[in-house]
Amino acid sequence: MDFTCAAYDRLLASALDAGYRVLRVRDALTGPPASPALIIRHDVEWNIRRTLAVINVEQQRGIRSSLYFRVDTRVYDPAQMCRLQDAGFEIGYHFNTLDRCRGDFARAARTFENELFRLREAGLDVTTAIPHGDPRIRRIGYRSNADILSRDPGFLARLKLLDVGGGLAAHFPEFVYIADLGISWNGVRSAAELLAGIQLGRWPAIYLLTHPDYWSASWFRAVGMQIAACAMRGLNINRIIAGFRRSGAEFRTGGAE
Ligand SMILES: [Zn+2]
Repeated sequence: MDFTCAAYDRLLASALDAGYRVLRVRDALTGPPASPALIIRHDVEWNIRRTLAVINVEQQRGIRSSLYFRVDTRVYDPAQMCRLQDAGFEIGYHFNTLDRCRGDFARAARTFENELFRLREAGLDVTTAIPHGDPRIRRIGYRSNADILSRDPGFLARLKLLDVGGGLAAHFPEFVYIADLGISWNGVRSAAELLAGIQLGRWPAIYLLTHPDYWSASWFRAVGMQIAACAMRGLNINRIIAGFRRSGAEFRTGGAE
């Protein structure tokens, strides 16, 4: 099963065996170039318990990763975040201020600044920020939470934040981006392909994104989550097909997520 802690441990073991150096996002942007490199990022959305289970697997292997915390959900707990920082994890800001400010750029920028200030005031050394993406949100006047950065090119530098998007591409021109979006692997076709690629040293650098909410200590939950994710994808596709039939539009597939 793909998204269990045991599977994650196998993935890390393979990477270490193949000579990958595991880097936090900040290290990847500022440290000396390493090859092969495995840059690990976790987007912490809702559930701290699942996040702790995933990073416990890393700690057992002496690995530290980057954790991007939402500040508008119950995972926001500065004391807990400080403890994780003390344990060696990078704590970053997972922002969605444009979504929450309904596309009002000025208000979203102010909210971003205030939230970053709060994190730093709590003792967190935040030097990277990653936009949150929720495919269910209807966006008017902007395409993603990241637009706040492209609209104002000096924004990151003013707030003393590193440019993750541009920086990774500059430091690792051939990196592959592999993510567990929608509880299925993106960037590779399967977990088996990912493991084989790591074992063969297929990629000089891997930028791995996981959402610990999707991962399970128990095999049964992992199976249930994957079946539910497949069913939801099927439901969306069926709804789209129904919509097209009703409107008499041309039938197309894709774009379900
Ligand atoms: Zn997110």
